[in-house]
Amino acid sequence: MYHYGYYSMFYDPTYILVLIGAVLCMAASGLVNATYSKYARVRSMTGKTGAQVAQELLMRNGITDVRVAHVSGNLTDHYDPRTKTVNLSDATYDSNSVAAIGVAAHECGHVLQHHTGYVPLSIRAALVPAANIGSKLGLPIIILGIIIGMTPLAKLGIVVFSLAVAFQLVTLPVEFNASSRALVMLGDYGILAEDELSKSRKVLSAAALTYVAAAASSILQLLRLVLIVGGGNRRRD
Ligand SMILES: [Zn+2]
Repeated sequence: MYHYGYYSMFYDPTYILVLIGAVLCMAASGLVNATYSKYARVRSMTGKTGAQVAQELLMRNGITDVRVAHVSGNLTDHYDPRTKTVNLSDATYDSNSVAAIGVAAHECGHVLQHHTGYVPLSIRAALVPAANIGSKLGLPIIILGIIIGMTPLAKLGIVVFSLAVAFQLVTLPVEFNASSRALVMLGDYGILAEDELSKSRKVLSAAALTYVAAAASSILQLLRLVLIVGGGNRRRD
C-alpha cells in the first residue's frame, strides 16, 4: 500500500525542486526585461526600425513569401510558420534601438531556419502535439496512478510528462541558432556596427537564458516526479 496521499504529494521535500525552477525562471525573466529596457534606449546609428530591419533581412535572403506584422504586447515577438508572418511586438516594430533590431533579426533567424530546413526546428515542430499532451496530461496521469496505487500508470505519466521536457530541450538549439544567425546577418549586412552588435548580443543572450531556465525548471519537475513515484515504489517493497 502507498503511504502518501495528497498531503505528501504536494508538501513533500521534493517540492523544493519546483521552487528552484520557479526562481530560475523569475531571475531569467527579470534579467531579460532589465537588459531589454537598457538597450531599448540605445538608438542604432542607421536609425532603421525593427520592422524595416526584418523586411531587409528577408529581402536580402530572397524570401518573398513572409510578411512582417505588428502584434500587441511586450516581447511577444515570434515567427509563425503557419501564416508565414514575422510578428513584432510594440516594443520592437517601430523602435530603432539595438535591442529591437536584435529581436527582429532573431525572428528572421527562425524564418531562415524554416526556409533552409534546419533539423532541430523540424524536430521541435514535430514535438508540439506530443508536448501539449505531455504538459496537460502527464501530471494528472501520475497523480491518478498514485491515488489508485498503480505504479505502472504513474510511470507512464512520467514518460508522457517527459515529452514536454524533450520539447523544452530541443527548443534550446533552435533559439541559440536563431540568435547566432541574427547577429551574423546584422554584422555582414552592415545593419549594426561592432559595438552595437555586442549590445544586441547581450539582449539575445538574456532572452536565450529564459529558455535555459524553462528547460532547467522542467527537468527539475521531472526529477521531482521520478523521485515521488520511485520513492513510492521503494516504500511498498
Ligand atoms: Zn526565438
